[in-house]
Amino acid sequence: LASRRFKDEKTIIKVNDIEIGGDEIIIIAGPCAVENENQIMKLAEVVKNNGAKILRGGAFKPRTSPYSFQGLGEEGLKLLRQAGDSFGLSVITEIIELSHFELIEKYTDIFQVGSRNMYNYPLLKILGTSRKPVMLKRGMSATIDEWLMSAEYILSGGNPNVILCERGIRTFDTSLRNTFDISAIVSVKDKTHLPVCADPSHAIGYRDKIIPMARAAVAAGTDALMIEVHHDPDNALSDGPQALLPEQFSELMKQIKEIAKVI
Ligand code: PEP
Ligand code: MN
Repeated sequence: LASRRFKDEKTIIKVNDIEIGGDEIIIIAGPCAVENENQIMKLAEVVKNNGAKILRGGAFKPRTSPYSFQGLGEEGLKLLRQAGDSFGLSVITEIIELSHFELIEKYTDIFQVGSRNMYNYPLLKILGTSRKPVMLKRGMSATIDEWLMSAEYILSGGNPNVILCERGIRTFDTSLRNTFDISAIVSVKDKTHLPVCADPSHAIGYRDKIIPMARAAVAAGTDALMIEVHHDPDNALSDGPQALLPEQFSELMKQIKEIAKVI
């Protein structure tokens, strides 16, 4: 179902009043995690004022260490929804386990499946029963075909609204957080009609290198960009080093508008 052999025409995914996969690039931005009301309201304002259409923020965080901040849970979902509604932004948040499905579906516009869960087939199957869009991140060591097979789990369950997201892969090199596989954008677009998002924040891991990589993803033809932003990254509860400061986010928006049409 994901293949261009099945359907050659590009899939356009509607999220409230916007379209992902159309002629314009959609920007998804916000903090890694929802931390408190003041933080998410402030960042919703920042991303809205700079032209983002979708607010991101994790409420259930899949952290490498069990001792790291795990997210605010339902309180985080409520705050994300409140911030999105206050600024006219749609929202996306990550689902990390099956039992949270109904709870998260109540609050979010888009489900995010993280890199660590790309192979979580029971989770993908339940998302196939929803009609809300699912952004499926590429597993950090997944081949393109494995990634598309994971999309197939959602599509075959009856949910046609899948967005693929390249977020960097594991390679022999450790100089940056991951290796941003920009070629995946081109490869996957050749094989599938589904829209593609690029997440240079998780791919690169260092804020001073995100802007050129966002430009590269846009030049390669991504349909959307996911960018982490924080007004006080030194005190962020997760992924502070890769969060753009508000003024860097403005600069990123300015630069990508010179390459492609962004709404
Ligand atoms: C995230 O988006 O904050 C996240 C945990 O991403 P990934 O699954 O790509 O690591
Ligand atoms: Mn993050």
